[in-house]
Amino acid sequence: MPKILEGIGCPYCGCSCDDIKVVVSDDGKKILEVENACAIGTEIFLQATSSDRITRPRLRQSDGSWKEISYPEAFDYAAKAIVAAKKPLIYGFGSTTCEAQREAARLMELGCGILDNCASICHGPSLIAHFDNGYPSCTLGEVKNRADVILYWGANPIHAHPRHMSRYAIYPLGFFKGNGFFERTVIVVDPRNTDTAGIADYYLQVKPGHDYELFNAFRMVIYGFEKELPEMVAGIPKQTILEVAGILKQAKFGVFFFGMGLTHTDGRNHNIDIAISLTRDLNQISKWSIMAMRGHFNVAGANRVWCWSYGFPYCLDLTKGNCAHMNPGETSTIDLANRDEIDLFINIGTDAAAHFPIDTVRHLKKHTWITIDPNMSMAAEIADLHIPVGISGVEVPGIVYRMDNVPIQYRKVVDMPEGMLSDEEVLSGIANKVEEILAQEKIGFSITNSHKKIIPAGP
Ligand code: SF4
Repeated sequence: MPKILEGIGCPYCGCSCDDIKVVVSDDGKKILEVENACAIGTEIFLQATSSDRITRPRLRQSDGSWKEISYPEAFDYAAKAIVAAKKPLIYGFGSTTCEAQREAARLMELGCGILDNCASICHGPSLIAHFDNGYPSCTLGEVKNRADVILYWGANPIHAHPRHMSRYAIYPLGFFKGNGFFERTVIVVDPRNTDTAGIADYYLQVKPGHDYELFNAFRMVIYGFEKELPEMVAGIPKQTILEVAGILKQAKFGVFFFGMGLTHTDGRNHNIDIAISLTRDLNQISKWSIMAMRGHFNVAGANRVWCWSYGFPYCLDLTKGNCAHMNPGETSTIDLANRDEIDLFINIGTDAAAHFPIDTVRHLKKHTWITIDPNMSMAAEIADLHIPVGISGVEVPGIVYRMDNVPIQYRKVVDMPEGMLSDEEVLSGIANKVEEILAQEKIGFSITNSHKKIIPAGP
């Protein structure tokens, strides 16, 4: 009899939907049906048990071909590469569990390297703005039950977070919003006339790169300076700005969702900074919250785990062991790679080869590249060592932080192919091996990152 599993978490986007129903074959090996997930989520589950998986580590040979090796051999190769490297870097983590993120931190402490996650190229500017200006946010449950005005700025959830509107923000029937969609006003600000803009009550087609000006215009209206407002700001007529500002002020519970259209246009963290200021201003009049539309299902987890470990969410320089330092621009992956400072790159739970600028990939490829990933991604195909792992959220259980920073326990749906390991087990195996090498060679720590030169660690 096929088994029906309910309350399963989807390992794809930042919505981290945990209401998925999965039908598994009676031998527990194949996923037969998926309910409640969007088209992307459904494919993630159905593809997971496909037969063309790589199930053992592969090491690149001098002629470019792959040779299958065992997990212990892969740990040995990776550990030796980490100990030999002056500045190793591990990057990714959007699609890993918090348990793996914690193990990666232990590994980079031992290896005295750089610990970075996908926020470095997505919501990093948002995190910098949070440092500067706070983060008056809420949970997606509060959005569903209370929100009457939803503002999407630089985000296109119809494509990037397909169930965001139906599960949390616009369509669901909430405790205080029994008529769902009919009780909510939707505003979209975006230079592109997206599908999300198509369902909005108000669509403001802001001039690309002029978001900051539009925020300022809304703040002027809120502070009573509407007479001083020019006839047109950032491509939006004064009359529209006044009308939309009126809706923002009258909201009983407004929520402001922003995406990478805001973090990666001119202004970057300053855009988020002023968005937070606008949210704070609106809270003098009504009730407003702000939330980043996080991309991967557990990129927020990496930020949380490393914040409670070191005080910093991304771009962590651990070259002095467990004494962390963060300075985007100096300690961020792309910048370090472009300055050729990285001599070992480990890609995990993302596809840096597909997402990084090609010149950055070329710099990283001058040195050893290790990919830890269940899939045959571009990052896996160009690696010197590819270590396949179980799929988090499908074959591997673990903690995941949703985009509103609510932790969710993801469960396992099917077993990993026999003999495979999870990313946490792989990172732990490499870290144990690094410890062994350091102990054998009596390599000690020093505060100058010179432990790679042999320093006596004491008697
Ligand atoms: S919206 Fe995102 S988390 Fe939810 S089912 Fe779709 S891909 Fe999965």
